[in-house]
Amino acid sequence: MSTNNEPHEDDIAQIRDDIDRVDSEILKLLAERKAFSLRMAREKGLHARPSRDMSREEDLISDRINSGMSHDLDSGLVNRVWREIINDSVRVQQEFLGRSESTPDAITVAIQGIDGSYSHLASQQYFDAKGITPSYVRSSTFAEAIRAVQEGNADVAVLPVENTTSGAISEVYDALLDSQLHFVGDVRFRVRHCLLGVAGASVEGLRRIYCHPQAVTQCSEFLAGLDRVELVYFSDTALSGKRIGEMNDPTVAAIASEEAARLYGLDILKTGIANQEENYTRFVVVSAQPAQVPEGVESKTSIVMAVGNHPGALMDALAVFREADINLVMLESRPIPHNPREELFYLDFDGNISDPVVQSVFDSLTKQLRFLRILGSYPSRDLRPRPLERDVARGEPKGLSAVTAVSPATGIPKGYKLGSRVHKPHNTVIEVAGVKVGGDEMIMIAGPCAVESWDQVMAAAKAVKEAGGSILRGGCFKPRSSPYSFQGLGYEGLEMLVEAGKAYGLPVVTEVLSPEDVDGVAKKADILQIGARNMQNFSLLNAAGRAHRPVLLKRGMSSSLEELLQAAEYILAGGNQQVMLCERGIRTFETSTRNTLDLSAVPVLRRHTHLPIIVDPSHAAGDRDLVAPLALAAQAIGADGIMVEIHPNPEEALSDGPQSLRLDQFENLMGALGFAPSPGKAG
Ligand code: PEP
Ligand code: MN
Repeated sequence: MSTNNEPHEDDIAQIRDDIDRVDSEILKLLAERKAFSLRMAREKGLHARPSRDMSREEDLISDRINSGMSHDLDSGLVNRVWREIINDSVRVQQEFLGRSESTPDAITVAIQGIDGSYSHLASQQYFDAKGITPSYVRSSTFAEAIRAVQEGNADVAVLPVENTTSGAISEVYDALLDSQLHFVGDVRFRVRHCLLGVAGASVEGLRRIYCHPQAVTQCSEFLAGLDRVELVYFSDTALSGKRIGEMNDPTVAAIASEEAARLYGLDILKTGIANQEENYTRFVVVSAQPAQVPEGVESKTSIVMAVGNHPGALMDALAVFREADINLVMLESRPIPHNPREELFYLDFDGNISDPVVQSVFDSLTKQLRFLRILGSYPSRDLRPRPLERDVARGEPKGLSAVTAVSPATGIPKGYKLGSRVHKPHNTVIEVAGVKVGGDEMIMIAGPCAVESWDQVMAAAKAVKEAGGSILRGGCFKPRSSPYSFQGLGYEGLEMLVEAGKAYGLPVVTEVLSPEDVDGVAKKADILQIGARNMQNFSLLNAAGRAHRPVLLKRGMSSSLEELLQAAEYILAGGNQQVMLCERGIRTFETSTRNTLDLSAVPVLRRHTHLPIIVDPSHAAGDRDLVAPLALAAQAIGADGIMVEIHPNPEEALSDGPQSLRLDQFENLMGALGFAPSPGKAG
């Protein structure tokens, strides 16, 4: 036996023998596995099956990681070893089937830049680790690289999002938010900027440097020390290198990678010119399909959220992560286009969408946020073993892969969740430019059916303001039953509506008819209306779900309340948590009114949903004399708001004249409803 401190030579020799024996077993087993792989290739060859089945590979790795953990093996080790084994078996099979790496199963990567650009080098680093040699689609802008993925010309795009010296690359964040692509991976790449020149060039003799703006920020100290040197901006570091090579002028240099110098035959005039020696850029890998991260692989999730505009909103959102014991690793804020009062927050945290703890975080967040979109879960760079207490049963999360935005709709009996009271017991209050919809006080939305002229909309706005109304309505894109009827003034009408709203200090709501117009209308209008005829226009609902404006969703004239709630769910699941529902009458056998106002919708919806409920008696009645009694009934039954059509001269109205209240009628109605008149202009 050995003493405590000095192991016996014989023991050591014995252990070495044992390790040799185990290794020889491992090798024998690997050879046996390879033989099975070849048999599989023969089978696939016979039945012409594609040689690579990514989802089976991920399942297999996940399975091995779990078995490994039961033997106390590190998940990162098992993950790396089995990826190598699988890559080898794919190579064996592809060789057998006579396929090269450029077969259709190889991965195509879109990057901004040419070979030798940092995007190219970062992609190589990312895919090398997976044993994959991709082919590249080289784009000149980030937006073009994203489009390549959206149009199916590339499987993924690799895009820089953050640099340790220059910070967030906002252009990429903004392009990604519009894109609907999913984050499936990320890679931290060490950027080593070099000053490159042609033969005969020297730092002292330089007159011009071609460089990417990011490189200029990251090398600002070095550049500040150069005298009489002009900087010429370039969109791509490697391309600037290539260009100076072609120019062959020793007074011109470029800032690019060592790899670019090698590729384009340039001399390295100086290395290490960045302000910080350790200069890293984080790239994200994005795809049209979300990633399925195997259970047991430590992963990261990226989301984007808007918290709303009240004190403590961000703190409350972050507290949700703290309470769930989830580690936040990145928080970045970006302005929201056309909404200078609020910011979007990008967040990365440790965790996987499929983890019930993360799911419960999303549940909590959707209750308090104005907007939430899940960008994706993907393996963390360093594969640390995950804590065992976080382990969840395998198998269940598969259905989550289709989730593009908020929590999944698994096990929901009625097809809606986020809109339900079960999900969020308390009423949602939507604040629009100081007006609270769904709060303690009922509000009035009024205005013409359609914006027809400057004078008409100004007169209506004045009447709304003076009678104590809160929101100005007016259609600019009109969904008319007949193509020969007045179709609205479009964006010109929208300008008038917005100006009239500003003049009287009223936020405005207007209908949006097509998904393509959502962005354009959201730039100007405070609230987007989706009309009865479009309640189940799912691409319009999806587009509204991505918008940063509240949505007034009208009930379809032949839709059940359940269908209305399911339609609202599309918007909520798309990220936008600000939806108000509107009952506007349904088709029944009764013909004495245009539609039948279903007032029971108010208490029924109230029972099932936390969303604000508006009643529109104008479109229900179709007759101005019926509007007031129906409005009073809507108030009595507890509506959060009433929307009516008014017109300074209803007889001349280009649409819905018969149901539009005259301005004096409107004033009387407002008095009957108990609204206090407001003394003239506010804005
Ligand atoms: C409107 O509000 O002008 C409108 C067209 O309403 P609905 O979609 O309810 O018919
Ligand atoms: Mn109308």
